[in-house]
Amino acid sequence: MHPFLDQNVGKVPYIGRARETILNDMGIATVEDLLTYFPRRYLDRTTIKSIGNLVTGEECTVVGEVVNSVLQQHRRRKILHVTLRDATGYMTLNWFQGHQWIQKVLKPGETISVSGKVDFFRGHTMTHPDFDFVDRDQLNTGMLVPVYPLTQELRKRGLNSRVFRRIFNRLFNQCPPQLPDPLPDDVLHQIRILPYRDALYQMHFPDDEASLKKGWFRFKFQELFMLQLLLAIKKKTIREQKSPYVCSHAGDLIHKLYHSLPFDLTNAQKRVIREIYEDLRSGHIMNRLLQGDVGSGKTLVAAAAAAIMIDNGYQSAIMAPTEILANQHYINFNQLFMPLNIPVALLTGRLGAAQKRESLTHVANGQTPIVIGTHALIQEGVTFSKLGFVVVDEQHRFGVDQRGLLIKKGMNPHVLSMTATPIPRTLSLSLYGDMDVSILDEMPPGRKTVRTRVVTPGGLALAYDFIRKEVRKGRQIYVVYPLISESEKMDLKAAEAGYEELRDEIFPDLKVALLHGRTPSREKEAVMQDFKGGKIHILVSTTVIEVGVDVPNASIMMIENAERFGLTQLHQLRGRVGRGAEQSYCLLVNRKNTEQGNTRLRILEKSSDGFEIAEADLQLRGPGEFFSTRQHGDSGLKIADLVSDMPIMIKARKEAFKLVEKDPQILLPRHRNLLDFFLKHYRDKLDYATIG
Ligand code: ADP
Ligand code: MG
Repeated sequence: MHPFLDQNVGKVPYIGRARETILNDMGIATVEDLLTYFPRRYLDRTTIKSIGNLVTGEECTVVGEVVNSVLQQHRRRKILHVTLRDATGYMTLNWFQGHQWIQKVLKPGETISVSGKVDFFRGHTMTHPDFDFVDRDQLNTGMLVPVYPLTQELRKRGLNSRVFRRIFNRLFNQCPPQLPDPLPDDVLHQIRILPYRDALYQMHFPDDEASLKKGWFRFKFQELFMLQLLLAIKKKTIREQKSPYVCSHAGDLIHKLYHSLPFDLTNAQKRVIREIYEDLRSGHIMNRLLQGDVGSGKTLVAAAAAAIMIDNGYQSAIMAPTEILANQHYINFNQLFMPLNIPVALLTGRLGAAQKRESLTHVANGQTPIVIGTHALIQEGVTFSKLGFVVVDEQHRFGVDQRGLLIKKGMNPHVLSMTATPIPRTLSLSLYGDMDVSILDEMPPGRKTVRTRVVTPGGLALAYDFIRKEVRKGRQIYVVYPLISESEKMDLKAAEAGYEELRDEIFPDLKVALLHGRTPSREKEAVMQDFKGGKIHILVSTTVIEVGVDVPNASIMMIENAERFGLTQLHQLRGRVGRGAEQSYCLLVNRKNTEQGNTRLRILEKSSDGFEIAEADLQLRGPGEFFSTRQHGDSGLKIADLVSDMPIMIKARKEAFKLVEKDPQILLPRHRNLLDFFLKHYRDKLDYATIG
């Protein structure tokens, strides 16, 4: 609580009723919100171009005075022409829309900055430039002039950077010389960070380039520090809790399981199972993420852990994101545990009522030690006798944090989350920074790499010939279409059209089938059975079946509109083939056929290392792709960037974890400001952790 920072923005001079409403609509309610509304960029007087020196085709910023504006009819459309003047000449700014309000705000005599690409038509022009209002006197004194992020809507309502600069001017005049700094003193000194108030001032009125950098550094650091603090607190909360499910021994069952296998574990599997066992016997609760490429053998790791739990008298639940996957797991687990006389139950929505009741009873009385299902397992409150271990397979597809859900249901078992999405280390420290991470970085022997080729539209005929030849050899084919939720309807149509073309025109002599998210489950099941049984040559599907289907005889995967997928996603998809003894292939059809797209896709021709591919994807497409993989991990960063600010994140993480080690509840008096700040901004993200 701070009398200055917590004031309502309506109390700030220069902000009347109308502006208060606009600011509130922007989510700015208090002085603190206002002060942390940072500029989008800064006009640097030294890089502003004069009109006389403009070069056609260049992106640049010009500062000048509005001379006049005229609306002219050009054939069918009206164009607004605004004439701008500086000491060296005149130029014309053109707008095809928004005439009224632009004409209203760009009054003759106003000094504005405009940024955009320079064109030439009877003199220099810019079309739809980004513009902002500038104070002439400020421009003459200050070197760096802040430009605030404003939407057209806000500009229409009369808000512009000049207004903001005036508001901030008054605000800092009233601002006390000291503001409580959320970052503790020792961190400030350790990292050499500008104190809170100074940093705020530099963000809005930078002395020079260097001070501005320090200002941004401080707020990026602060944001990442808070994120890491949240993760550190969560991690510690789980770590500190005593688990009621302690494994005193690894037991016989796991050895029996090993002996029943027709192969040896990979070294990576052995290492990860050991890591898990260490957690299970530690007396604390496990919260571990297992990362491993498709086919690296995660299921067996989960089964081994379940075997240890069973030997110690506890139940295990395996949760899959879809019913198909749950079925697949059920088959796999049965194969592993049936010979050992360990019953495995399947609980999905499609069980008959009687069968379901029986399964539920056996789970409740503890007769069944392993239960497989979808996330309905915990959502529908199935009662367990002694649920000690939960495996969340393909955890990124669940969306919400399963650990949090479990705790809300009053359960606190060990949790092993598994994912085939290789998350670059740089990201995983932020997205999964509250978990321990194990990595299966070794494939079982004998797996051939999937030969991958980018196919451009001109190469399609050849690709179809190749497919036909492989079918003659007895192979089966997946054809995958993208299904992106925003355009689901159109995507479905495209998949259906593609299916019809394949069935009727390209392969009329072959058996082609279609499978997608809307296919009724019974039909889905039947199609899958037919495909497994070899009755279908070509299975066309949307990405709904992207994981978990295991048909060793399917040796080609053709991915349509591959340019629309992330590399990581494509890599995972192609992991579906190459499970049998035959050489397998992945054909990436790039319908758009852009050079850039082809170059990106060709990374997959060269590499089969999931982490390497993920890293390349991250560099090329940014972290957005990975964010959607864990909703609650969507870090909500506004200032820092998870990729480019990685070095700052590592520093922030170190300091945050050090702090939580010393002061897990943030109770020390010297952390008072931090506690206040944290509770104010992050309370709802604490989830199951508590502080203060
Ligand atoms: P994923 O990590 O994609 O879940 P799976 O657990 O489904 O991979 O394993 C893929 C295949 O590899 C399965 O058929 C499994 O039986 C087999 N497998 C697992 N571990 C080994 C191993 N150590 N040696 C040989 N094959 C293995
Ligand atoms: Mg799997």
